[in-house]
Amino acid sequence: MAFEGLAERLQGTISKIKGKGKVTEQDVKEMMREVRFALIEADVNLKVVKSFIKRVSERAIGQDVMKSLTPGQQVIKIVKDELTELMGGEQSPIKFSQKPPTVILMVGLQGAGKTTTTGKLANVLRKKYNRKPLLVAADIYRPAAIKQLQTLGDQLSLPVFALGTEVSPVDIVRQALEHAKEEHHDVVLIDTAGRLHIDENLMQELKDIRALREPDEVFLVVDSMTGQDAVNVANSFNEAVGITGVVLTKLDGDTRGGAALSIRSVTEKPIKFVGMGEKMDALEPFHPERMASRILG
Ligand code: GDP
Repeated sequence: MAFEGLAERLQGTISKIKGKGKVTEQDVKEMMREVRFALIEADVNLKVVKSFIKRVSERAIGQDVMKSLTPGQQVIKIVKDELTELMGGEQSPIKFSQKPPTVILMVGLQGAGKTTTTGKLANVLRKKYNRKPLLVAADIYRPAAIKQLQTLGDQLSLPVFALGTEVSPVDIVRQALEHAKEEHHDVVLIDTAGRLHIDENLMQELKDIRALREPDEVFLVVDSMTGQDAVNVANSFNEAVGITGVVLTKLDGDTRGGAALSIRSVTEKPIKFVGMGEKMDALEPFHPERMASRILG
């Protein structure tokens, strides 16, 4: 289960302070030491851990908490609030264009789950938002990627715009946008090239695609199992091309939590969705508060 170790440790720490009628500064300090270890063990970015501990400590050691009737509960609430804040506070909705089609660029490294997520997102857009999405196969470097998207399109009965591997991604996107207008698609989801590493060519290509038509969303798909690497990838993509949101995949696995807890704070971009499995219906909106509740029990 995701966050298992973190949840276990935090819940253990919390149970010690929960019913206390009196909480001393020493109690808070001890608790914070344990929370700090738990976060570091979950592979949370060190700077994020430090500022989190600082914020929680400052609030928890405040007079109104110490003198309240239920100080233990108050401290737990502060931890929960700050954990929620750390993950973005509010759920962040998809930004749709006033002037259709809405263009969503899907970016990420190979194997992160980008193509699968593109299919899942199209499914969400149709089912929950009543949209008519067009999937665009712009990853020409891995021939199997086009086939994979087409297979997903068939499975979902959704159209996939593909021009093979000989046409440049920029031309594919240009033609796809025209096609979308003709066929009245109100959302265009572009599956771009996933590479093994972030490289100049990949970034330039994304910039060229962006220059054609400013996308309404640029979703970076990252594998939550890769912890802080996911955070570094998010940072690099954000600096190079600019992202508007993150989709964290494989949260159905036993990810420790580092990516989910650090990405928002490091990149200042919201986690919009989480992948909860390989099937086409396994994509959920990310709710920071629910996630914090799940971790804290
Ligand atoms: P891409 O190279 O980034 O396009 O990655 P793919 O979409 O091909 O996905 C790589 C692998 O990860 C595939 O086996 C997917 O089924 C799997 N995958 C993607 N998202 C999830 C997820 O949320 N949970 C699980 N368990 N597997 C996923």
